[in-house]
Amino acid sequence: MALDFSQGLPEDVLALQGVARDFALSRLRERGQAADRTGEVPWDVLREAGELGLCAPGVPEEYGGAGVSALAQVVMMEELGWGNLGLAVAIGSQSLAAAAVSRHGSLEQKRAYLPRLAGEGGLLLASLAVTEPEAGSELEMASRGEHQRVRSEARRTDGGYRIDGRKRFIVNAGADGILLVLAQTDADAGLRGASLFLVHQKAAGVQFLGRTETSGLRSLQIGTLDFQGCAVGAGDLLGGEGQGFQIAREVLQLGRVLTAAAEVGTARAAYEASIAYARDRRTMGRPIIEHQQVAGMLARMRTGIDAARLLVLRAAGDIDAGRDALLSTSEANFQSGDAAVTALRNAVQTFGGYGYTEEFPVEMWLRDVLGSRVAYGGGDVQLLEVAEAIARGA
Ligand SMILES: Cc1cc2nc3c(=O)[nH]c(=O)nc-3n(C[C@H](O)[C@H](O)[C@H](O)COP(=O)(O)OP(=O)(O)OC[C@H]3O[C@@H](n4cnc5c(N)ncnc54)[C@H](O)[C@@H]3O)c2cc1C
Repeated sequence: MALDFSQGLPEDVLALQGVARDFALSRLRERGQAADRTGEVPWDVLREAGELGLCAPGVPEEYGGAGVSALAQVVMMEELGWGNLGLAVAIGSQSLAAAAVSRHGSLEQKRAYLPRLAGEGGLLLASLAVTEPEAGSELEMASRGEHQRVRSEARRTDGGYRIDGRKRFIVNAGADGILLVLAQTDADAGLRGASLFLVHQKAAGVQFLGRTETSGLRSLQIGTLDFQGCAVGAGDLLGGEGQGFQIAREVLQLGRVLTAAAEVGTARAAYEASIAYARDRRTMGRPIIEHQQVAGMLARMRTGIDAARLLVLRAAGDIDAGRDALLSTSEANFQSGDAAVTALRNAVQTFGGYGYTEEFPVEMWLRDVLGSRVAYGGGDVQLLEVAEAIARGA
C-alpha cells in the first residue's frame, strides 16, 4: 500500500489498524458512496463498527472497551477516513463522548454509558451538542471574556435541571442516542457558568427539527435539536456545575486529532487513486504521470499528507503522555485540513474532466474534506489557537 507507515507500530495498534482497514475496504467505501448519492445514512454500518470494537476503543477494559491509546485511535481513524470521511466522523464522535464520561463521569455514569458507547450490548450513538444557531467557533476557543456564552440554559429545579435552547450541526442528531449538551447554569458567569448534561435524544422536551442538508459528508447525519423544558436529574450533570466548557474543550482536543487523522486517510485515498489514474491515463503518447506538472501535483500531495500524519502522531503522543495537547492538536488539525484540501484539489485536476464527474469518487472526497474543515472551528480557529499559544510563550 502506498504511504504505508505501519513500520514500528506496536502489535495492538497494528491489530486495530488491520480491523479498521478491512472494514474500510469491505463496508465504508461502498456504503459511504451509496449514502452520498441517496442521502440515506447507513446506521447499520455504525452498529457494525460497534460490534467490531471500532467505536470508542479508548474506553477502559473494565467498562467494556479495549483501553487503547490515542496513538491507536488515530491510526484507526486514518483507515476509517480512507474508507469514508462522514462515517469516520460519526464513529469518532463516540470517542469524544466516551473521553468526557471516562474522565469526568461519576461511577454511575461510567457504568451506565461507557460499555454501550463502545458497542457492548448494542451501540449507543453519542454526540457532543455544543454549537448553537448564534454561537459556533466562540464555544470552541479559549474564553476571552463574559461576551462568550452559551444561549441554551439549564435552570435548577427540585432534584435536577430544566434545559431550554437549540443546538445546530449535531452529529447523529435524530438517532436514538445520547447527547452531551452544553448549557448555561449561571447566566452571568460567561463560559465559566456553562455545564454539560447527559441527555437522551428521545427524552421528553427534546425535539429533532430535521437533518441539515450538506454538500459533502452525506453519509453523516447532522441536524438541529430543540430543547423545551427538558427535565434532567442532578445525576445527569457531567462533572461539576461550571465545568462544561473546560470539559468540552479538553474533549475537542481529542476530536481535532481524530478528525485530522481521518482527513489524512481521505487524502491518502485520493493520492492512491491519483497515482493509479496517472499511470494508466495517457496523453501525447505517454502516461500523464510522466508529465512533470502532474508528477509535481502528486509529489505535493504526498508531502502534505506525510507532514500531516507526523503532526497527528505527535499530537496523539502528547495526549498519551498526559501533556497539554492544545497546541499540537491544533497544529495537526490545521495541517491535515490544508493537506487534504490541497490533495483533493490536485486529485480532481489529475483526473481532468473525469475528476469532476460521479464516475470517480474524487469530487465527493473534495466535498467531504471541505465539510470536515468547518467542524471543530476550521482552519482559522486552529491557527488562532496556535497564535495564542505563541503569545503565551509556547
Ligand atoms: C460536518 C460538521 C459536523 C459538526 N458536528 C458538530 C457536533 O457534533 N457538535 C457540535 O456541537 N457542533 C458540530 N459542528 C458545528 C461546528 O463545530 C461549527 O460549525 C463550527 O464551530 C463553526 O461555527 P459556526 O458555523 O457558527 O461559524 P462562526 O463561529 O460563525 O464562524 C464563521 C467564520 O468566522 C471564523 N471566525 C469566528 N470567530 C473567529 C475569530 N475570533 N477569529 C478568526 N476567525 C473567526 C470561523 O473560523 C469561520 O470561518 C459540526 C459542523 C460540521 C460542518
